[in-house]
Amino acid sequence: MEGMKTIPLETLRINLSRELSNLSESIEVTKRKKPIAYITKELMKAEIKPRIDFEGRTKLETVIPLSTPYLVFLDPSDICNANCQWCPTGSKEALKYKKPQLMDFDLYQKIIDDLSSMPEPIKTLRLYKDGEPLLHPKFPEMVLYAKESGRFGQVDTTTNGSLLRPTLNIQIIKAGLDKMFVSVPTEYSPAYVKNVKHFYDNSRDKCQVYVKTIGDDMTEGTKVKFMKDFGDISDRIFIEHLSPCWPEFDVKGVQKEIGIYGQEIKEVQVCSYLFYSLSINSDGTVSACFLDWKHSMLLGDLKKESFKSIWNGKLLRDYRIMHLTKARSLLRMCGVCQQLAYGACDDIDAYAEEILGRME
Ligand code: SF4
Repeated sequence: MEGMKTIPLETLRINLSRELSNLSESIEVTKRKKPIAYITKELMKAEIKPRIDFEGRTKLETVIPLSTPYLVFLDPSDICNANCQWCPTGSKEALKYKKPQLMDFDLYQKIIDDLSSMPEPIKTLRLYKDGEPLLHPKFPEMVLYAKESGRFGQVDTTTNGSLLRPTLNIQIIKAGLDKMFVSVPTEYSPAYVKNVKHFYDNSRDKCQVYVKTIGDDMTEGTKVKFMKDFGDISDRIFIEHLSPCWPEFDVKGVQKEIGIYGQEIKEVQVCSYLFYSLSINSDGTVSACFLDWKHSMLLGDLKKESFKSIWNGKLLRDYRIMHLTKARSLLRMCGVCQQLAYGACDDIDAYAEEILGRME
């Protein structure tokens, strides 16, 4: 999925250094012992870097259409044990559209077998979409089953970290998870940090740990504390901004002029996600988009049809063509989606006609 870079690297660097410089200044104000040194790369184990790589991405316009997606989201759990105001999963609104559930393990195995029969190995299997994946009691078995297929470049997940415990940590690491994104809540306990530390300490050379939080409502002091608490127990760390990424879900408090990673907002017409990723919901249905929290962009059902037929099917093709012909505003969810402006890092707008030609 490492598609091409859209946000100029220099812009990102400038914004990142501005963010960090602001943070450093505030740390000076707190007059802690060796405050600035603490968050420098030299003394902190983690890299201060967004969870998404903006560098070294495949130039999507040279490879699409793809026979196999680079990235597949597969949701072990549509249920979440948190209630974050910026996420629709915990909202009552979401319950109007779907019944939260854990994925049936037999169905999960069938889906992994199905994914394994795609022409190419899938670069990343992300065991996450709408809910908290560690709520699934068979999460380690899910990781193991996918890893044993040998058909995924990496298996990763995103968790709020609340369920990490020594026993589960070891099970997940042993199962072979390659990367874990920990989305740290704005308030957490010393026990929470201890459990993340346990995972980190036991996952060396096995599983990368990327930690992030959302900083818009944090004071400078709590940002410093976050860096101090997690800077030595993660491989990457970052303080992100709120983003109105979920179509038709209102996120309050978004800074209108700044993207998730501190980058400038950029208008993009063609959604690159449609060309390199696909999302499987916990009930086995397939959504065109990982942000389809309402399950209203459904393309098919893996209980009844193959992943390959959905990936190559007419419905997804129609979505792609609508985007390439600059008509995404006519699509209900895509038309109001702000993910491309606030959080996407690929831009294939300039190649739309060329790609369209290759699809015909
Ligand atoms: S435009 Fe937004 S809603 Fe549509 S597929 Fe892309 S990310 Fe998803």
